[in-house]
Amino acid sequence: PDVARQIAAGEVVSRPLDVVRELLDNALDAGATRIEVEVEGGGLRAVRVRDNGAGIPAGEVPLAPLRHATSKLEAVDRVTTLGFRGEALWAMSQAGTLTLTTRPAAQVGATELVACADDVQVRRVSAPAGTSVAVTDLFAHLPARRRTQASAATEAREITGLVTRYVLHHPGLSWRLTVDGEVRVQHAPGDARAAVASVYGSLSANRVVRVDATGVTGVISRPELTRARRDRMHVSVNGRPVLAPPELERAIIHGYGELLPGSLAPLCVLDVRVPPEDVNPNVHPAKAVVALADVDGVARRVTEAVRAALAQHPL
Ligand code: ADP
Ligand code: MG
Repeated sequence: PDVARQIAAGEVVSRPLDVVRELLDNALDAGATRIEVEVEGGGLRAVRVRDNGAGIPAGEVPLAPLRHATSKLEAVDRVTTLGFRGEALWAMSQAGTLTLTTRPAAQVGATELVACADDVQVRRVSAPAGTSVAVTDLFAHLPARRRTQASAATEAREITGLVTRYVLHHPGLSWRLTVDGEVRVQHAPGDARAAVASVYGSLSANRVVRVDATGVTGVISRPELTRARRDRMHVSVNGRPVLAPPELERAIIHGYGELLPGSLAPLCVLDVRVPPEDVNPNVHPAKAVVALADVDGVARRVTEAVRAALAQHPL
């Protein structure tokens, strides 16, 4: 049973990047407007995420690291929160040491929980409103898992890329990422253009135009700002950053038509809204891949939105 449990936990948290993503999702689900991330030693030594969101009431804190304990799921076929399986904190406590400090704004005093394997300690502490989660010494007691990790530098780069995507898709929040004490990403609340400026610089930000169609919003680069690679195409579905389905990437490029020669790809940050029952985030443990019902219909909407935005802003 112990082995089966380790394997199940390992599917949710297989590397530090997974910890960061799950903690960011939790912070967003909690309605945070300020999120700070700290990574040490490629995330194996420590990942810390602090938010100013709703917090967890003292009475519910002991439930948080229990497997399948979630305060979110209402219907499995209609997911509106980023988390819904109640497995992330549990998996972190199995894979490393989880320290969670939390206080709802209206509660006097905070609660601290330290969970490692099946040892769980809870005590009252004082802390600001919101939640702070640290996961330390990830895979310390799982040498095989530890040996197959990427280098600290590679993992830090991936984590920076992930935080960057969250900033682009949630530009109205305040964000900060530090890696081994050095600030890598910093963003003050603003619009999508401001987020492009924080991430790619003001030159890029000055060359994007707004996309504002029903169900498709964000910014896209004017055709002159193009690159051969697609690593600046960012798509979220109902606010969840995802690996863009190839149909949607093609749909965006298609919207540029003749304006975009050859294999060039634009910079874009687009959020696509679909009815919650039309998206299945459950096809992948990391939820980075989603299945869309009617992907062709969504693709047509995206192409139209891109065309309309470019037509409004001729060269
Ligand atoms: P899930 O997100 O799928 O519900 P998690 O294991 O990630 O499962 O979290 C378990 C529960 O702990 C959540 O349902 C939520 O109630 C609470 N929680 C976790 N992180 C936070 C946070 N940053 N702010 C407020 N509540 C949180
Ligand atoms: Mg979660």
